[in-house]
Amino acid sequence: MRPDAPVRAYVGLGGNEGDVATTLVEALWALDAMAQTTIQSQSAFYRTPAWGRTDQPDFLNAVVELRTRLTARALLDLLLEIEQRFGRVRNSADRWGPRALDLDLLLYGDEVLDEPGLTVPHPHLHERAFVLVPLAEIAPSLVIPGRGELASLLAAVDVSGIEAIP
Ligand code: ADP
Ligand code: MG
Repeated sequence: MRPDAPVRAYVGLGGNEGDVATTLVEALWALDAMAQTTIQSQSAFYRTPAWGRTDQPDFLNAVVELRTRLTARALLDLLLEIEQRFGRVRNSADRWGPRALDLDLLLYGDEVLDEPGLTVPHPHLHERAFVLVPLAEIAPSLVIPGRGELASLLAAVDVSGIEAIP
């Protein structure tokens, strides 16, 4: 159902293929241009070691806070559309391989959703340092529904090799 007040949502951006810094800047414009949605704050860009499969280039990652009147589903659909526009090629044989742009809906208000193709909070959010570090920069006292305080989650992951780029 369409929310009657703007919802605070967090989106994670990442990529490790091509000119990633430019891709992320352009992706931020695309997010800000989405209907009924504005960017409230954004983290620095972080250089992070590849996760899942380590034999590939480092990633750049960032997190933005949005205010949106879109439903979670409509928001995710737009995120996936933007990913496609930036040339993300989905390859099921190489699930965690290089990618031009990955956009994840991390949080949608304090909602907990588990529907086909839409899980919120994002199912890996709590265990991924490359998401937790930029998220903590812009929302240090956040509580993740079902997972607890961001600060505690952050204390439990390995943040080595993750650095904000100037
Ligand atoms: P990951 O981002 O976890 O590395 P992918 O980007 O390859 O994995 O997975 C994207 C798929 O996950 C999409 O098809 C999308 O429908 C589904 N999905 C479910 N919940 C979310 C969410 N909260 N954010 C982004 N994608 C999601
Ligand atoms: Mg994704």
